[in-house]
Amino acid sequence: MSVRVRIAPSPTGSLHIGTARTALFNWLFARHQGGQFILRIEDTDQSRSRPEFTQNILEGLQWLGLNWDEGPFFQSKRLDLYRQAIQTLLDQGLAYRAYDTPEELEAMREAQKAKNLAPRYDNRHRNLTPEQQAAFEAEGRPAVVRFKIEDDRVITWNDLVRGRMTWQASDLGGDMVIARAATATDIGQPLYNLAVVVDDQDMAITHVIRGEDHIANTAKQILLYEALGAAVPEFAHTPLILNTAGQKLSKRDGVTSISDFQQMGFTAPALANYMTLLGWSPPDAEELFTLADAAEKFSFDRVNKAGAKFDWDKLDWLNSQYLHQLSANNLTDSLIPYWREAKYSFDPETDRPWLEQLAALVGPSLTRLPEAVGLSRFFFTPTVEFSDAAKTQVQQAGVAEILQAILAALKAGESLTQADAVKALVTQVTKAQGVKKGLVMRSLRAALMGDMQGPDLVDSWLILHQRGFDQTRFEYALTLCSE
Ligand code: GLU
Repeated sequence: MSVRVRIAPSPTGSLHIGTARTALFNWLFARHQGGQFILRIEDTDQSRSRPEFTQNILEGLQWLGLNWDEGPFFQSKRLDLYRQAIQTLLDQGLAYRAYDTPEELEAMREAQKAKNLAPRYDNRHRNLTPEQQAAFEAEGRPAVVRFKIEDDRVITWNDLVRGRMTWQASDLGGDMVIARAATATDIGQPLYNLAVVVDDQDMAITHVIRGEDHIANTAKQILLYEALGAAVPEFAHTPLILNTAGQKLSKRDGVTSISDFQQMGFTAPALANYMTLLGWSPPDAEELFTLADAAEKFSFDRVNKAGAKFDWDKLDWLNSQYLHQLSANNLTDSLIPYWREAKYSFDPETDRPWLEQLAALVGPSLTRLPEAVGLSRFFFTPTVEFSDAAKTQVQQAGVAEILQAILAALKAGESLTQADAVKALVTQVTKAQGVKKGLVMRSLRAALMGDMQGPDLVDSWLILHQRGFDQTRFEYALTLCSE
């Protein structure tokens, strides 16, 4: 039987890293098995679902490279299917309408609390007579549909991550609500556990791979599969992602959605690589890999039960590895949006040659893409501010003469298109002035960059020269020499 798995996000927020990691494990398993990966949007909760979140989820999955084979399917368009299933359960006497008011339910919980009992529905409307039902309906009470859970049942499954799992049905909180706002003639609004089971059955899902926070739902859903006469799929419950303090990563930790990580300048392959390591380790202990490589090696044997701690240093390290491997061409494409956002002026087409040189120059220092904004600022403006150290440097004896000699060469049409030409000019000026090469290099750096630190001097100069900024800066530095 061909493997069919699904990711079923609820569009009540942006694509969360936990959901994305679950999607990733589904994708890896599907690709490893040559199976199908299905995308289903669980938007039955209309009051909290929003189209912009659906958009964010689709874009996030695509950006990460988690292409799906079928879907997106929307639960909101499949309500009839769920209603049919609920009707079947009602017809078979496996579900019933219950009419408890919120006040009655609250009083029941209070009474249980007073006796130190765990809160649960006591199934009091399970066996209402037709007369009692009619009386509640005549009162205008809204109903819920409850699915019967027999307390003496023991539910077990072999979890692909956690091994043998056992649940006492008596711990599931009593008969379970599968639809609300029902009336005598209408089934009302189908709820999550029912819709999931109907969909997983209808979509012939063979493996349900989801976060361990769904374990209790799995126990309930197994009972529903059985009641609906469906084959029960296999289950794999993946570990939670924890913050550095060991608690479940949440909105309070700041960054949690994939679009946040994208904005922070992480590349998709680095983030996907990192997320794969959140709970799984390849058999060869390799840390840098593509998703295709990981898919070849993926199995649930190597997924941990314990929560996976989020490690920013490791993500940064992986991201830098990916950034350093990018070609100047690709890196330039990734940096252009950041340069644009910083309002640097450039023409992405005519300036492309020097933009690529700039990307190649700053690339090796980058951990996250936005760092390129600060590192490349002085290539986009004709003039620079001088640091105190740079000012002191150009005020040293002999520096004015060095700068004048360089300027004279530039004005005489010296063309600096290659590193060799720059080096030759530096050697020539050093000899002609009878000074040390270090003095020339330091002074050039100060004059061109306004600072004593920065990227490679020769490569920087080549870029500035193409922009005509070198001459402007030498002229300005000369005005500082005698200040
Ligand atoms: N909509 C559920 C969620 O976002 C999916 C649960 C499932 O995979 O069954 O958590």
